[in-house]
Amino acid sequence: MSTVFIISAPSGSGKSTLVNELRKIVTGLEFSISYTTRPPRGSEQNGREYFFVPRAEFDEMVGKGELLEHAEVFGNCYGTAKRFLREAEQKGNDLLLDIDVQGAQQVKKKIPDAVSIFVLPPNRDKLEWRLRHRGMDSKDVIERRLVTASREIENYDKYDYILVNDRLEQAVDELRAIVLSERLRRAGEKPSSHDKRILETAERCRLGNVRERVQPILQSFKSGAAQS
Ligand code: ADP
Ligand code: 5GP
Repeated sequence: MSTVFIISAPSGSGKSTLVNELRKIVTGLEFSISYTTRPPRGSEQNGREYFFVPRAEFDEMVGKGELLEHAEVFGNCYGTAKRFLREAEQKGNDLLLDIDVQGAQQVKKKIPDAVSIFVLPPNRDKLEWRLRHRGMDSKDVIERRLVTASREIENYDKYDYILVNDRLEQAVDELRAIVLSERLRRAGEKPSSHDKRILETAERCRLGNVRERVQPILQSFKSGAAQS
């Protein structure tokens, strides 16, 4: 049985960076390429970042029941094709979904043992800094992304694991530990001492163990919103 990993984050938190690093160091993990009705941005290519489809084609996929989940995000439709899960299962691989909170909840309903991970920036100022330094968005777009982020992070407690992406190296190590610990747990074998370190690292990221750590992050967004 494949394990489905769901990862969500406000834009600029470093989700793409983390996922790219994870894919270099963890094998047996496939990445689902979503379908979307939004036009490609910058150097995006059809079939690489997304499958870019017209609305009629998207609706047809929905009608035929070909999507595991779908949602409207910023006025565009996004969806995960069921075939990615089938293909991962056939190859004995796990599947990683980069989807929003609405999609994450739909997948959790259909696949209760899917593992969900929410990535948080260390605080609002650092998120703003990262968005500026990424150099992809105008000032207005950055302002909008920050407002959206404040709303999105309120959903953090709907996820199994919370990853605070402060030092990249540590966040990558934690993300790897979450994936490996879930694999260990599902394999049901007695953990080695090396495995124990992985299990402990993942455990520290569990929702129930991060609530205190998350409070100043949430607060920074509330204070930031009040100032701007
Ligand atoms: P997302 O996919 O969540 O929108 P990106 O992966 O594009 O975010 O990261 C946003 C910016 O922040 C990029 O310029 C990236 O290099 C940088 N970044 C990512 N993680 C870190 C980190 N831990 N520390 C500092 N900068 C980071
Ligand atoms: P972007 O257009 O910036 O690439 O993505 C916008 C948002 O859509 C992000 O939060 C991303 O996680 C989400 N998203 C991407 N693909 C899917 C999908 O297949 N389903 C859902 N529900 N959300 C998606």
